Amino acid sequence: MTSVSIVSYSALYMLLLIIIFFSKKRLNLFENKIYSVGIIVALFGTFLEIISAIYFLFGWDVNTTFYIVISRLVFVYYVIWINIFLNYIIIITRQKVSQRKIIFQLLLCSCVEVVLLMLLPFEYIVSGDTMYPSGLAVTFLYAIIFVCLLLMLIFTIISVKKVEKKKFIPLIALLFLGGVAMLIQSYFPEIFLTTPLIAFVTFLTYFTIENPDMKLIEQLNIARDQAERANNAKSEFLSNMSHEIRTPLNAIVGFSQALAEEENVPEEAKDEIKDIMMASQNLLEIVNGILDISKIEAGKLEIVNTEYSLKNVLEELTALTTSRIGEKPITLRTVFDPSIPQVLYGDYVRLKQIVLNLLTNAAKYTKEGYIEFKVDSVIKDDICRLIISVEDTGIGIKKESIDKLFNKFERLDLEKNITIEGTGLGLAITKKLVELMNGSIVVQSEYGNGSKFTVAIDQRIVEGKETVANEINTEIELFDAKDKRILLVDDNKINLKVAVRLLQSYQMQIDQAMSGQECIDKIKEGNSYDLILLDDMMPKMSGVETLKELQKIEGFETPTIAFTANAISGMKEKYLSDGFHDYLSKPIDKLELNQLLKKYLKEGEK
Ligand code: ADP
Repeated sequence: MTSVSIVSYSALYMLLLIIIFFSKKRLNLFENKIYSVGIIVALFGTFLEIISAIYFLFGWDVNTTFYIVISRLVFVYYVIWINIFLNYIIIITRQKVSQRKIIFQLLLCSCVEVVLLMLLPFEYIVSGDTMYPSGLAVTFLYAIIFVCLLLMLIFTIISVKKVEKKKFIPLIALLFLGGVAMLIQSYFPEIFLTTPLIAFVTFLTYFTIENPDMKLIEQLNIARDQAERANNAKSEFLSNMSHEIRTPLNAIVGFSQALAEEENVPEEAKDEIKDIMMASQNLLEIVNGILDISKIEAGKLEIVNTEYSLKNVLEELTALTTSRIGEKPITLRTVFDPSIPQVLYGDYVRLKQIVLNLLTNAAKYTKEGYIEFKVDSVIKDDICRLIISVEDTGIGIKKESIDKLFNKFERLDLEKNITIEGTGLGLAITKKLVELMNGSIVVQSEYGNGSKFTVAIDQRIVEGKETVANEINTEIELFDAKDKRILLVDDNKINLKVAVRLLQSYQMQIDQAMSGQECIDKIKEGNSYDLILLDDMMPKMSGVETLKELQKIEGFETPTIAFTANAISGMKEKYLSDGFHDYLSKPIDKLELNQLLKKYLKEGEK
């Protein structure tokens, strides 16, 4: 009776376990799949054992064909279950075996073992009160169980460090309780202990499998989606903000630049115009800084490597710093290592941004003395390590502040530099860019006496080239473009006015359109232009859509420049891939405008 009830309880538990296991959503892991096969096998086994136990209970003849077949099926159940458990251990101990191999080996072993167990001879031996199965089939069964347990133990020992300890509990239970069960059964063979043991181990395993709460995972997925959407909304907001701030800035920068050149403007007004230009330049730097840091933090800032001439970059940086120093009594010393290769391969736009930040800070935080801009190189194979240092005789940085220097929005020593414009973003961006370029940056400073920032960045050397095309012009070179026709397309009247004002110096013929459709109509009417400056963010039809329509017009080949306030980093690349010839951001930088006009309108410059 005891055996029947023990085995029946085991069957009930297995049934409950199956219901619980399959009613919950689970991770799609191979170990979970193997486990699910294991519990189904265990359930069938318990049913077979119930039949055996009933036979014993009623003392029916066990040496009948029916009972022998049932007994053989029980043996089959043991070997299949132990094989499954072995493979489960192989999976959780992360042995280097593919899923396919595991399935193949499981099926092959099980088939061979099943055939042998069904064919090998065996019978029940009765001795006194006890009765036990004996014969080759039984010996074979014990051998398989022994080999499987041994393999499990080996796999466990060799990978004990790799796996969570709780995963080994079922195996330890199997070994320990298996020993105890065998001991009990040798005295009381009528008690069926193997099936309860299998049920117990299967049950224990349930608590060690990867069993996360799928509901929680779903919630996490929803939260992740929401965060992604919020992040996209932030990027969109930034792009809109950039556009919105740049449009009025375009008017301020553009008109003040134009006014500064007017001859009949009174001297005192000229000073004020200069202040307006400086203030709007600072505001533009702030907008750019915020956009850059957001982009870097979102991991969207990519390093774009090209061949470039370092000489040109250094010349431009020197010119920009000279103009930044302005009237201050500061000497700019430049010391450039003459052995630096002519042409390098790297992201010169970002390199320029890094060094310009350091030079601008030196100019900002130095009242008098000198700024030394030094570039050294160390060459190894085809790599040139640029060692760029910017040293100044400025206000210096307190020792305790050095750690905070690269934190964003951190401005130091405010009582001293309260009058100096800044956001505390420059060095945070600089550091992140240096890291993106696998370089390093160090600071030395003596408070009150000056600072020295040193950056080391590796760039690849391009052999056999004297120079490349990143010719950088630091001077505006006006030229006469009387016979050239340009079409400006912008939905904003002020933007059009600013552009017209800046283009007037070139004496070209300027035509205007206030929408994409108007631009298309003008081309279709047969007007021909040498250049089109096309705004992108326009109502009804964007610049990109307008360009697509223009390209469908037969014979349309006019160079078209994306002329936009959408100026987050990476926008230039986007517009070029949309089919634009070039890109000009708003507010219009006169130098950039000059370069573009020279490139597309000056004869012989194309
Ligand atoms: P910002 O210049 O816009 O305030 P930065 O991130 O470029 O922001 O610099 C952070 C702070 O580090 C500055 O506010 C300033 O206090 C200090 N700093 C940076 N460069 C120098 C320098 N060359 N000399 C003295 N202080 C500096």
